[in-house]
Amino acid sequence: MKKGKLIYEGKAKKVYATDNPDLLIQEFKDDATAFDATKRGTIGDKGVCNNKISNQLFELLETKGIATHFVKLLSEREMLIKRLEIIPVEVTVRNIVAGGMAKLLGLAEGRILKIPVLEYHYKNDTLHDPLINDYHILALELAEEEELKAIAQYSFQVNQILLNFFDQCNLKLVDFKLEFGRHKGKILLGDEISPDTCRLWDKTTDKKLDKDRFRRDLGEVEAAYQEVLRRVCQKKA
Ligand code: UDP
Repeated sequence: MKKGKLIYEGKAKKVYATDNPDLLIQEFKDDATAFDATKRGTIGDKGVCNNKISNQLFELLETKGIATHFVKLLSEREMLIKRLEIIPVEVTVRNIVAGGMAKLLGLAEGRILKIPVLEYHYKNDTLHDPLINDYHILALELAEEEELKAIAQYSFQVNQILLNFFDQCNLKLVDFKLEFGRHKGKILLGDEISPDTCRLWDKTTDKKLDKDRFRRDLGEVEAAYQEVLRRVCQKKA
């Protein structure tokens, strides 16, 4: 697979064309940003960890019937993916109160939610990814009703699969963010699933093993990503 020209550079990843118009290469960087990119830094080998963790999780989801953009791992930092027309909505699923939900509703972090909470945020940095609902998405034609139904259904299914998987890694899946896109008329799960996009707490100690270590200057950031990778690979093996 020939790596073509750079077609997109985001905060944590670069995307390259290939000689096949339906396929792209997603390259994971060590750059980290938080709070709408007002906080910037690098996390050593984060790209390598996130590529490998995402690879394992996409493979797991595919075996459970979730259609994803993942094709195969190409190298330590590169993954071959299907080209998606990204739907500009971040889908968040929450099992335990943390981060944005704690702030929005004045709740203590750590409260276990009676049922998982599905949230949509409009992908727009200038507006700080505002919280929106199904009606906004349909009214603004960000997605069609059938697509939104598939997205919600997939998101809850992904939550069940990941809750079960991370539990076996001795990790609590607090919350996570997904992105979806269209490929040949189908909705596929895209982006990445990693400690950048999930909150993961050690089941025994509640130690944070995710990007909150960077956001909140908790230290041992690299070690947390390595630890998640170790547990995810150990579980798989
Ligand atoms: N998240 C993400 N990208 C974003 C915002 C959030 O991957 O731009 C993830 C975040 O890591 C967490 C979940 O989505 O696992 C919920 O984040 P929240 O809405 O609480 O926002 P934050 O606390 O990051 O402001």
